[in-house]
Amino acid sequence: ILANSKEKNINQRQDLTEKEFRDVFSKGYGYAIRKSSEGVPTVYLAMPVIKDNTLIGFIRISTPFVYIEIGFLANVFNEMIDKLRVNEEERRNIINNISHELMTPITNIRGFAEVIFSGKVKDKSEFEECIETIKKESDYLEDLIGKLNLLSRIDNLSMQYKFQPLDIRKIILESEKSLSLKAQQKNIKIYNEFIKDCPLIKADPNALRQVFINLLDNAIKYSPPDKNILVSLNREDKFLKIIVKDSGIGISDKDKEKIFERFYRIKDGLHEEKGIGLGLAIVKEILSSHRAEIKVESQLHKGSQFIITFPIIS
Ligand code: ADP
Repeated sequence: ILANSKEKNINQRQDLTEKEFRDVFSKGYGYAIRKSSEGVPTVYLAMPVIKDNTLIGFIRISTPFVYIEIGFLANVFNEMIDKLRVNEEERRNIINNISHELMTPITNIRGFAEVIFSGKVKDKSEFEECIETIKKESDYLEDLIGKLNLLSRIDNLSMQYKFQPLDIRKIILESEKSLSLKAQQKNIKIYNEFIKDCPLIKADPNALRQVFINLLDNAIKYSPPDKNILVSLNREDKFLKIIVKDSGIGISDKDKEKIFERFYRIKDGLHEEKGIGLGLAIVKEILSSHRAEIKVESQLHKGSQFIITFPIIS
C-alpha cells in the first residue's frame, strides 16, 4: 500500500486481503463498504499503481459512508433555509420536518447501495430492484430539494418572473405531458374540457407550469388507481376559471383551510406519507404573484377540486 487516506497504523499484510484490493485484480479497481476500525461505516476505494507494466502497489482512499449523502444534503438545505424569511420557531419546525423526511430515503439509498457493494446480490432482477429503489428515492430527494429551493427563491424575492402573454391551455397540456408516465403507472387518465377561444393571460410560463404540475401531481398521488382527472377551463367575466378535479381520497373540512400552509400535511393514515407539504404553498405563492386565486372544494372519500381564478389581460 503506497498511500492510504486514513487509518495510519494499518497492518499492511492483513489489509491486502480486503475486498477492495482483491477486486483490483479482476476489475482494475475495487471498492468495499464496511466498518472502519473505529466502527464507522466507511467506503474504501483501491486503485493499482502500475509502472512499466508491473503492479508496484496500491493507493486507497476511504471516507465515512454517510458523509457522501448527508453532508452534501445538509449544506443544500441549510443554504435554502437561511434564505427563507422565517422566525426561530418556524425554522426549527422546518428543520425537524426536513430531517424527518430525509431519513427514510437516505436509509433506503444507503441500505440498497450496501447490498450492491457487499457483492451479495443474487441475480440480475435483485440487482435491478436495488437500483430502482435507489433511483426512486433519489428522484424523491431531488423533488424535495427542488421544492424547497423554489420556495426560498420566492420568499427571498429573488424569483425572477418573466411575465408574458400566454395561452394557458398550452401550459396545462405541457404540465400534463410531464406527468403522463406517473398517471399511466396508476392507470389514471387526464381529460381536458377547454373553451374554444381562450383569452390570453399574463404569466410566467415556468412558474405557471409548476402550479399545474404540483396540482396534477397531487391529484395523481391522492387518487386510487383507475380514477380519472378532469381539467376544465371556462371564462367568467374578466377571469379564467380553471378546475383540476380528481375522484381521490378527498380532504376533510378541518384540513381544507390548512393545506396551503407551508409544511402542512394531513396525517390521518389515509393520505400518503411522503412529501413535506410544500407543493400547495408554492402554488399559492406563485398564483398570488399573478394576482390569481385558488380555493379547494372537497369531500373525504369523494374527491377534490382545486379552483383557480386567473385575471384575463384587459
Ligand atoms: P405534499 O408535498 O405533502 O403533497 P402539498 O402542499 O402538495 O404537500 O399538499 C399538502 C397536503 O394536502 C398533502 O399532504 C395532502 O394530504 C393534501 N392534498 C393535496 N392535494 C390533495 C388532493 N388532490 N387530494 C387529497 N389530498 C390532497
